[in-house]
Amino acid sequence: MRTTTGWQATGPTALRRTSLERRDLRPDDIAVRVDHCGVCHTDLHALRAYDRHTNAPLVPGHEFTGVVAEIGPEVTTFSVGDRVAVGNIVDSCGVCAMCEAGQENFCHTFPTLTYGGTDRQDGSTTLGGYSREYVVRESFAYPLPSGLDPAAAAPLMCAGVTVWEPLRALGVGPGSRIAVAGLGGLGHLAVKMAVALGATTTVVSRTRDKRDDARKLGAHDLVDSTDSRQIAAVRDTFDVVVDTISAPHDLAPYLKLVAMDGTLSLLGYLGPVTVEATDLLIGRKKLGSAGGGGRPATAEMLRFCADNGIAADIEVLPSSQVDTALDRLRRNDVRYRFVLDMSDLD
Ligand SMILES: [Zn+2]
Ligand SMILES: [Zn+2]
Repeated sequence: MRTTTGWQATGPTALRRTSLERRDLRPDDIAVRVDHCGVCHTDLHALRAYDRHTNAPLVPGHEFTGVVAEIGPEVTTFSVGDRVAVGNIVDSCGVCAMCEAGQENFCHTFPTLTYGGTDRQDGSTTLGGYSREYVVRESFAYPLPSGLDPAAAAPLMCAGVTVWEPLRALGVGPGSRIAVAGLGGLGHLAVKMAVALGATTTVVSRTRDKRDDARKLGAHDLVDSTDSRQIAAVRDTFDVVVDTISAPHDLAPYLKLVAMDGTLSLLGYLGPVTVEATDLLIGRKKLGSAGGGGRPATAEMLRFCADNGIAADIEVLPSSQVDTALDRLRRNDVRYRFVLDMSDLD
């Protein structure tokens, strides 16, 4: 076993710096020195559900960038010193129809999650990127294009690809009319990507003071979701409404914004929802969702972001302030993503 240092949960709100074990490199593994790891809402959910008496060890973190520190003997795509990025899945069966289609994120036997997952070979629980080193199969690590800042690129690996996949799958491009509901970690990247894809992009937010931010991100318009006149004016106008709101909420007002044959894509809240069928019937509207990304889409997303100068708007904190980052994220007090600098773990 290899030893590294990381932040392990001790309860629903607390993490403690501790030494962690990583597996010895398998032939197709690389060891990544983790330099930057984004702080995702999923980390909050995982911590909230964590009970140290009954759960396996929890080290959150599933959007990180770093440098290849060591490679296994059969590794062909990376060399020591290469910049890499890793997202929220680190393995899949490789043979099911979803994997064959390059949608490892939908693997029929469930993809191996970057943390809180079960390693397919030794059955151990995976420990995440809130740590100084991570060991991963080379096929689930991605070259980090040279144009991207490694800190600001880290959130692309979860938040970024989560909004990229549906935008691409729904054919968003020049001429598309897109609304982004909720301007947080996912939403701000959805705006940047939709704009760069050539779509006319509108932010729908109840926070009026986000108007300037929306414009800075490149959005063409902002609709105040609490203003019924503004909402009525954009009824049935958007080909895709990207819903990134993470709390439970009524979908009806957002379905009303969808144009005929358009789609409401639910990306932030993934619990049970209630829909009036008539809200779909009138205008032949569709309700969809997506999560994470397959390997081809993840690689494509990184190239697109490098080519278009897209990365997350971030606030970097030393990893020793992880509790502060989580606490402020809990209160939505970040524009728009915290990234932990792991160099203080040396
Ligand atoms: Zn995430
Ligand atoms: Zn599979």
